Amino acid sequence: MDFNLTEEQKMLQETVRRYLKDKIAPRADEWDRKGPMTKEEAHGFLKDLKPFGYVGTLVPEEHGGMGLSHIDWAILHEELRGVYAGLGGMVGITSSTSHGISESGNEHLIGRTLPGLLSGDKIACTAITEPNVGSDVSTVQTRAVLDGDHYVLNGTKTWISNGTIADCVSVVATLDPSKGAEAICQVLVEREESPFVAREIKKMGVRSFPTAELAFEDCRVPKENLLRAPGKGFKMALRGLTFARCNAAIAAVGISQAAIDASIQYARERTQFGKPIAKFQLIQEMIADMIAETEAARLLSYRAFFVLDQGGMGRKEGSLAKAYATEAAVRVTSKAVQIHGAYGLSEEYPVERYFRDARMYTIPDGTTEIQKLVVAREVLGMSAFV
Ligand SMILES: Cc1cc2nc3c(=O)[nH]c(=O)nc-3n(C[C@H](O)[C@H](O)[C@H](O)COP(=O)(O)OP(=O)(O)OC[C@H]3O[C@@H](n4cnc5c(N)ncnc54)[C@H](O)[C@@H]3O)c2cc1C
Repeated sequence: MDFNLTEEQKMLQETVRRYLKDKIAPRADEWDRKGPMTKEEAHGFLKDLKPFGYVGTLVPEEHGGMGLSHIDWAILHEELRGVYAGLGGMVGITSSTSHGISESGNEHLIGRTLPGLLSGDKIACTAITEPNVGSDVSTVQTRAVLDGDHYVLNGTKTWISNGTIADCVSVVATLDPSKGAEAICQVLVEREESPFVAREIKKMGVRSFPTAELAFEDCRVPKENLLRAPGKGFKMALRGLTFARCNAAIAAVGISQAAIDASIQYARERTQFGKPIAKFQLIQEMIADMIAETEAARLLSYRAFFVLDQGGMGRKEGSLAKAYATEAAVRVTSKAVQIHGAYGLSEEYPVERYFRDARMYTIPDGTTEIQKLVVAREVLGMSAFV
């Protein structure tokens, strides 16, 4: 078993680490305090990060993407999320939605929508959750009705990452709410041609990453924007969720590592009782526990991405990684705050941001409870959901 990165992957990691340290890290706290980024700011970030492979990472080269592997994605995102999780979220959602379009889109969507997304000129998002539909994705109520050459969408989506700044939204809707999962489809809504209303939701962590409620009212979408037909719509939404879970896991690993690095530096510099607090065994225990949990989370996360690279479904691996890594990140960042004492609670040090950001990740793409039920279902062959 080889745990080493290839030479190319090491180079990718070093290059991106250097760039993020020089250009992004110095202003990450300031940007986070400012709140949700504007569309213009998001475009700027996408263009700056594009040369490193952040835009269209998994989209094959024949569709104009980077054609990188899931492990490459993990390397890119572990680095970015540790420096500035809010930015990583915006970039990750745009890039993964582009991948979905490349995988399932017809020629019209690939030719018309992908180029703007891959150049960093457009921002994307995926909308599943509704005010009354959270963990149980099969019950979406947003309705798509075919009317001549258009689908007419009616419904409300909520907690949609990138919602206020997105140019296109992959909307999970139902053609017939009485038919459950088999009537679920996905429609790509392009905002300029099919306007909808977006309202920002203020939240505790990843503050610069916009989150929104989207209202679709008689929103007419050309019928060639059907991204995934009924039958495929639900299955592909679940597949997309598996990838999103791996992504949340690697985000948690990046944040945890950043919290460890900050804690090591602080523990060496801060003196009490005439010596650096790093010399106290209870501080050392916290550091050792933080490292153990983060390294375990990293291994679970990379294994999940590896399974996806091998063409596996990765349901068990993705859910295991997400549940463990995100809960571990809450514990790790909380210890980082503890090591910093009162300063850990102040905005003068980044660990309060890491703590708030880490707390966000146990909820989206399926809560920890849902991940555990998925893992148990995969090994027991019995589902708690039906
Ligand atoms: C930062 C952030 C970004 C997000 N981005 C997006 C996005 O881009 N697109 C999108 O569509 N959605 C997004 N979401 C929504 C997210 O996916 C949902 O919040 C999540 O699936 C949980 O749904 P819910 O919040 O409605 O909780 P609920 O489903 O109402 O759950 C409430 C509680 O009940 C528990 N619970 C529910 N069912 C069970 C069960 N069967 N057994 C045991 N416990 C159970 C849950 O674990 C939880 O503790 C985002 C959420 C957040 C916080």
